Amino acid sequence: MSTALTPDPPIAFAEASELARSQAGFHRVKVGGINITALSDGTVRVYQRDQLRNTTPEEVDQILAKSYEKSPNRASMNSFLIELGDRLLMVDVGAGEVLGPKLNKLSGSLSAIGLGPGDVTDILLTHIHPDHSGGLMVGGRKVFPNAKLHVNKTELDYWASKENAARATGHTLDWFNLFEETVRPYLADGSVQTYDVDVELFPGLRTAAAYGHTPGQVSYILEDRGEKIVFWGDLIHVPEVQFEVPTVTITFDVDQKQAAAQRLKSLADAAEHGYLVAMPHAHFPGIGHVRRDGTGYRWIPIPYVNDAEGS
Ligand SMILES: [Zn+2]
Repeated sequence: MSTALTPDPPIAFAEASELARSQAGFHRVKVGGINITALSDGTVRVYQRDQLRNTTPEEVDQILAKSYEKSPNRASMNSFLIELGDRLLMVDVGAGEVLGPKLNKLSGSLSAIGLGPGDVTDILLTHIHPDHSGGLMVGGRKVFPNAKLHVNKTELDYWASKENAARATGHTLDWFNLFEETVRPYLADGSVQTYDVDVELFPGLRTAAAYGHTPGQVSYILEDRGEKIVFWGDLIHVPEVQFEVPTVTITFDVDQKQAAAQRLKSLADAAEHGYLVAMPHAHFPGIGHVRRDGTGYRWIPIPYVNDAEGS
């Protein structure tokens, strides 16, 4: 890793790990006839009380306390594997080495289900931020040598722009540098495939704009046999806080207003239609339902299922 991240984002790098050994990092669900596996890239504690906007640190502390959580709060880094016909799709690839030594567990989570990064045929990025695309490169090498990298053209154009990079400061400048280190190599060898938003990328799997957090963030919508799951991307960063008060944004939202509006729209749609939602930063496995609750919403994590016959 050659890009040193500034103290912003303030991840609790110095805090001792809670666990001395890795946790199980995969969780299987079935949507229609399609196997989906949540894969953990690890968890970190983050001082998100200081990153959230349209609120105060004191209010964040109070809401976190209702969930027996406190600052620096725990955040999961989740990716999702989709077995679609003869293809193996992965939604986001975690942070790799760029956010400290507690992450970069994705390859281990994958090997626990008997697969390796070389088996992944397609990577679907929700957006280009280091905690979603950092895992493309580890130790200066491509982690996914056989995968096509699918990115919304609007998102790629934003991060690949030298003009945008020249104007960037602070953490945004770091992220442009990390784009060069982690995404550019895939672009250089022809592995990137861009698409225009609102297209069907694969049978039963389409994209929808979820702009605001980044200029070209998308959600991926998968439907099979009347069942549906939506891979949201970063619409929620702190579930304890932003379901209850959905107008709360985060400093990394490139367009704060648009990000808040998109969150409200996606929450209302998920609550109304009752489909499954998969989130990168909800506590692992990050899959569940949304329901209305007072002036906000509530996150209902999926029940644990382990009923395969035999071992
Ligand atoms: Zn993220």
